[in-house]
Amino acid sequence: VKVGQNSNRFDYVVVGAGAAGCALAARLSEDPDCTVLLVEAGSDKGPAQADIPLAAAQMLGTEHDWAFETEPEASLAGRRIPLAHGRILGGSTAINSMVYLRGSRSDYDDWGTPGWTYSEVLPYFRRCEDNSRGPDAFHGIGGPVSVSDLRYKHELTSALLAAASSAGHALNPDMNGSAQDGFGFVQVTQRDGRRVDANTAYLAPVRSRANLTVLHGTQVLGVNMSGTRAVGVNVLADGSPETILADDVILSAGTYHSPQILIASGIGPAGDLKALGIPVVQDLPVGHGLQDHLRVGLILATSRPSLRSMWTDEAQEEFLSLGTGPLTSNVGEAAGFLKTNAAVSEPDFQVSLAAAAVAEMLGAGGHGMTIGGWVSKPTSRGKVSLRSSDPLEVPRIVHNYLSTSFDRGTMCAGVRHMLEIAGQSSLGEFTEQGGDRPQAEDDASILEWVARVATTAHHPTSTCAIGSVVDASLKVQGLDRLRVVDASVIPSVPRANTMATALMVGERAADLIRKGAADEISL
Ligand SMILES: Cc1cc2nc3c(=O)[nH]c(=O)nc-3n(C[C@H](O)[C@H](O)[C@H](O)COP(=O)(O)OP(=O)(O)OC[C@H]3O[C@@H](n4cnc5c(N)ncnc54)[C@H](O)[C@@H]3O)c2cc1C
Repeated sequence: VKVGQNSNRFDYVVVGAGAAGCALAARLSEDPDCTVLLVEAGSDKGPAQADIPLAAAQMLGTEHDWAFETEPEASLAGRRIPLAHGRILGGSTAINSMVYLRGSRSDYDDWGTPGWTYSEVLPYFRRCEDNSRGPDAFHGIGGPVSVSDLRYKHELTSALLAAASSAGHALNPDMNGSAQDGFGFVQVTQRDGRRVDANTAYLAPVRSRANLTVLHGTQVLGVNMSGTRAVGVNVLADGSPETILADDVILSAGTYHSPQILIASGIGPAGDLKALGIPVVQDLPVGHGLQDHLRVGLILATSRPSLRSMWTDEAQEEFLSLGTGPLTSNVGEAAGFLKTNAAVSEPDFQVSLAAAAVAEMLGAGGHGMTIGGWVSKPTSRGKVSLRSSDPLEVPRIVHNYLSTSFDRGTMCAGVRHMLEIAGQSSLGEFTEQGGDRPQAEDDASILEWVARVATTAHHPTSTCAIGSVVDASLKVQGLDRLRVVDASVIPSVPRANTMATALMVGERAADLIRKGAADEISL
């Protein structure tokens, strides 16, 4: 679709068709009296295997992944950490691991923001969902996002769960329910064994709406401002610059891109803008506050085949005819939430259990299983900034992983729990010599190992946070008709993977934005 083929003015332009952008565009366009344009930089379709869960990793590093990386990270031996995120309709939900986890009640209550407490956002989590287990106080049915139990569970994942149990951790069949503590198989965003991303859940069913236009292959370069009011966006469509006018501009381009677009438009830290030669429209701490989960993986070499060898003709046939079998595995089939010390009221360390050598530290062909983990609520903060005034230049991303003693201490305590699970005798029949682990269990040895092997869990948040860049209605502070609606507004990374929260933000925002809605929430 070419911009010029449509009316060049819309009620709403939503920038970025990821988790939040798809939810928002679909919900806003329920009102036939408004026009909605959704603009996505990536393509509209992935490769044939895009909805095969076990093929998720094959999307990384392709044209469907922006494939950024950090600056050298000081606590990680100066390594640059690869930062995958989706560039396709569906955004990162089209390339992610499909784990559906929300975080704990206090994750939302602690925002301290009217309208965003757990009891106020729970209805939006429920509205999102079509849970295969049926409805209850925490789960919904009939929503766009199919949330299902895994159809296939590898024996190595079951062995890891049994080891967690013998190490003293409770089993929890619903880590999105009344309590987060404990271990269990995750629920995933799948239907009939296939990936459900934000595009298939929200957009595909409503693409024929006359008032919804979806442009793909179109990168937004900046917000068009008239004084303090947003009046549209500047885009690059098929290599040509164009302007699109809109009554309301909503950035849903994700934690790395929404700040990039704002700063390129003169909305950001005044000092940085002046240094870049960009005229200052509004001085705001855009790009500050970046958070993420730094993931470390303990790989145990296995004597039995892992998921790595499951891509067989037989498995493909089973997947295509029945939608079952190993190709429906999301790899990280189980998770756990634990407290590293008795003083904490919420789990402070998350574990991810996988029936494969996830970090590939064993080299090609090696079979393994992985006990992954990260600090649930880190305090380290980084920054997204621009290298130049060129909106097409890849931004500078510094995560500052493990830059606080709290994060280093919690990481060490969490890794000791991972080692305890790995040491359970019940795993003996599955494991053999090999793998990579800390030389010893003291903090220095663990941190040396973490610095060498850690990577991201892909959960960036907080660069346009509520309370600092946007207000509780997600309006950019001090400006008119401009909002941010994606994971970047989450004030601090939740104690969980971030897709469910990003979807909720999109759902919640639709109710805040709809024309005529009583949408003002004051901080
Ligand atoms: C490899 C990987 C695995 C993950 N696994 C899980 C998991 O198992 N469970 C989980 O809960 N979370 C997971 N996540 C995280 C989760 O997918 C994200 O938190 C979530 O998708 C963020 O939603 P968002 O709306 O903020 O942005 P995104 O979903 O990233 O969408 C942003 C969209 O904006 C587009 N865009 C960016 N810039 C522009 C521009 N200038 N113009 C036009 N369009 C633009 C992008 O192309 C993209 O489509 C994973 C992420 C990755 C990358």
